[in-house]
Amino acid sequence: MDRRNIDIDRRGRQVASGKRGLGSVVYLMSREQRVDDNWALLWAQQEAIIREKALLVVFCLVADYPGANLRHYLFMLKGLAELPARLAEINIGFKLLEGSPVDVLPGFLQRCDAHLLVCDFDPLRIKRKWQEQLKAAISVPFYEVDGHNVIPAWITSGKKEYGAYTIRPKIKRLVDQYLTDIPALQRHPVEIETDNLKIAEDHLAEKISDRIAGAVDWLQPGEKAGQEAMRDFVDNRLITYSAQRNNPCLKGQSGLSPYLHFGQLAPQRLAWQVSRSGLAPAILGDFLEELIVRRELADNFCLYEPAYDRFAGFPEWAQKTLQAHRQDPRDALYSLEQFEAAQTHEGLWNACQRDLVIHGKLHGYLRMYWAKKILEWTIEPEEALEYAIILNDRYSLDGRDANGYTGIAWSIGGVHDRAWRERPVFGKIRYMNEAGCRRKFDVDCYIRSVRLS
Ligand SMILES: Cc1cc2nc3c(=O)[nH]c(=O)nc-3n(C[C@H](O)[C@H](O)[C@H](O)COP(=O)(O)OP(=O)(O)OC[C@H]3O[C@@H](n4cnc5c(N)ncnc54)[C@H](O)[C@@H]3O)c2cc1C
Repeated sequence: MDRRNIDIDRRGRQVASGKRGLGSVVYLMSREQRVDDNWALLWAQQEAIIREKALLVVFCLVADYPGANLRHYLFMLKGLAELPARLAEINIGFKLLEGSPVDVLPGFLQRCDAHLLVCDFDPLRIKRKWQEQLKAAISVPFYEVDGHNVIPAWITSGKKEYGAYTIRPKIKRLVDQYLTDIPALQRHPVEIETDNLKIAEDHLAEKISDRIAGAVDWLQPGEKAGQEAMRDFVDNRLITYSAQRNNPCLKGQSGLSPYLHFGQLAPQRLAWQVSRSGLAPAILGDFLEELIVRRELADNFCLYEPAYDRFAGFPEWAQKTLQAHRQDPRDALYSLEQFEAAQTHEGLWNACQRDLVIHGKLHGYLRMYWAKKILEWTIEPEEALEYAIILNDRYSLDGRDANGYTGIAWSIGGVHDRAWRERPVFGKIRYMNEAGCRRKFDVDCYIRSVRLS
């Protein structure tokens, strides 16, 4: 890499200027927890090679990250455990720090006289706040790189989009330029003095205080497992995606969202493999619509709507209609504890909730029904939103994600949707019920399958 690679350069932007130190280039890994296909790591390596600096990856482990519990930590730590040795093979350092980046990183950067800092782009509030606080606390140049969106979120659009129909043409215009193969990292030419200690995942897991949900056993964590799961999907199941994805009784979806959420698999690698699979464009279209358009729309919503997890983040028409139906009588009302324990009157809803608790993943079609029923069976939309977010974040392996906040806001608050025929409680928010599900798939078979698991 003796000259700048434009494809790498355009994935990042400077967030703060500063004075370069004499030590390593430091990459603060957070959303993209992988070695391969990681634009931020490539970006940091390019900078380190040009400046003849060593390269160090730092991960800050926050033991009480909001909403995260043992289920999430175990998946994440097992994935992280693969990284130190892999990075050592290519002469890149790895250091795990315990504490929030705001508390532990400024001192660390000072002690190692860091040359500059690179971090992952993330639209969620806590990460934006950390970034702002870090900006004020460090003195080296600071950059962020978007390794999650095929097209960096700020390039696709500089404003909150109304829906898929407004972001789609923007993505279409740019996607051929950005949906490329991703270069490999090189063996880093400058030596680094770190020992890339093994991650003691069991010891670290003992420090996690929120243990409400345990590990899932149907999905192997980590970058290697994520790549294998991707290959299995592209080679064997992509062909039936369009026909089977809305049927929870079939394994029609890719099942890859936990890997994408933890950054153990690069969305762009997945999109690239899919687009080169040789299958007909009509077959690829449905999957790429979800993986690129819908997913990047979710990042757009969280980036530009500060109230992405609140009633105030709903579009005006949705706020108005929910307001008008605030006093409507509800057929049933449940507390958070009753929802959590799957104690509603509807067998399908209870099966969904149990599925989520047991497996840490609910089928995409059922996620909409699940959230909409929470709206129907709570006293007000604010409460529905709060409960849906708590339960989704607590039990979904892929929870605490822009896709989750946006999916829930779509289901309960009409975000990225349009007004439908008015009815009680929902107003003009799109309605779903068990009868509709029965028209789509064998509901009893689904309920039985959850009971047996
Ligand atoms: C109420 C509700 C809550 C949701 N919570 C989450 C969540 O916490 N985390 C999460 O990743 N997704 C969430 N989604 C979006 C979607 O349901 C999941 O991404 C999808 O079901 C994940 O399974 P999969 O990887 O097998 O999907 P596939 O159908 O195989 O899709 C592949 C990838 O495309 C993206 N994708 C698919 N559907 C959507 C969508 N509607 N919006 C944005 N991106 C999409 C995801 O990255 C997904 O992994 C939620 C949707 C709703 C309606």
